[in-house]
Amino acid sequence: MDKLVDSESIKEFRRLIEESSKIVLTCHVRPDGDAVGSTLGMAHLLHSIGKEATVVLPDKAPANLSFLPGYKEMGVYTCHPDFCRKTVEDADLIICCDFNTPSRQDSLAPVIQNARCRKVLVDHHQEPERFADLMISYPDMSSTCELMFRLIAGMGFYADMGLDSATCILTGIVTDTRNFTVNCKHPDLYEILIRLLEKGVNKETIVKESLNTRSYWSLKLEAYAISEKMEVFPAHKASVITLSKEELDRFNYEKGDSEGLVNRPLEIKGMVYSIFLREDPDCIKVSARSCDGFPVSEICKDLYGGGGHVQAAGGEFYGSLEECRQLLIDAMPKYDKYLKKVK
Ligand code: 5GP
Ligand code: MN
Repeated sequence: MDKLVDSESIKEFRRLIEESSKIVLTCHVRPDGDAVGSTLGMAHLLHSIGKEATVVLPDKAPANLSFLPGYKEMGVYTCHPDFCRKTVEDADLIICCDFNTPSRQDSLAPVIQNARCRKVLVDHHQEPERFADLMISYPDMSSTCELMFRLIAGMGFYADMGLDSATCILTGIVTDTRNFTVNCKHPDLYEILIRLLEKGVNKETIVKESLNTRSYWSLKLEAYAISEKMEVFPAHKASVITLSKEELDRFNYEKGDSEGLVNRPLEIKGMVYSIFLREDPDCIKVSARSCDGFPVSEICKDLYGGGGHVQAAGGEFYGSLEECRQLLIDAMPKYDKYLKKVK
């Protein structure tokens, strides 16, 4: 199972860990289950082999991950900048998880980039920038947590893995594959699941907490978005949902409340891609999903300076919600060529 990750990277990663005593783990802004799962999962593993390990997040993790062991111990840069800066300064190794470019860390980026210690990237996004001393990038993996598990096993630390680490790692796999419904074709992934279950993880609780638990307002917002705001473009097999700040306020929006919404239009038979545009305080947040290999990452890259994965991508737009929507609708014909490739 360890053969997919090259043995030189595994050896070098192990050497860097062995040479370090204070280790920081960090991830992208608006952290999701994979970002928090991979950082916290590795932090727990490092604790069990006697290392001081601290997770430093660019901003707060959503409430649906609060069940994760160690959630409260994570440093949040937007809440405790001094603590985070000091922790990063004192570190002798930084493990960057689940992002491919420093800009994905927003205001935490300079803190991490200016740190003098060595850095390792552990990630599954396309086209990573070479900002770390050791780059462990596998865009074909379902999740950074899958990659992290392979690294843990490959480095010979599986025996040291406790229930807390296994729970975090499985959470990232479960959230990025939407409970084994997307990006989960590789048979090895199920071997990893078995090895995590052998650690005693409760998969049912993980699925319920991370994917299937939400607030009253979050459910109402999704129902409203689908019934009132979903536009369908049959010629392009596309769907667009927009939510303005006023609409979000009306539904008492809290961070994470629209998680999963972008996937819903793909349930319509024949729909190939779905794009959700949300008016955040600082920008229009773009979230895109597709099926059948349609590259929504191209749309996010071309129109919104973003990226991600072929079938799950995002970006940011600086302008009005309507401008953002119109830009997308006008560009749709350009991407029809990818539809033709769909079998
Ligand atoms: P989500 O829609 O869940 O926010 O993000 C889906 C995927 O797109 C994730 O893998 C995420 O890393 C990537 N992504 C989301 N927003 C951005 C962005 O602004 N820039 C880039 N480069 N990738 C993004
Ligand atoms: Mn991920």
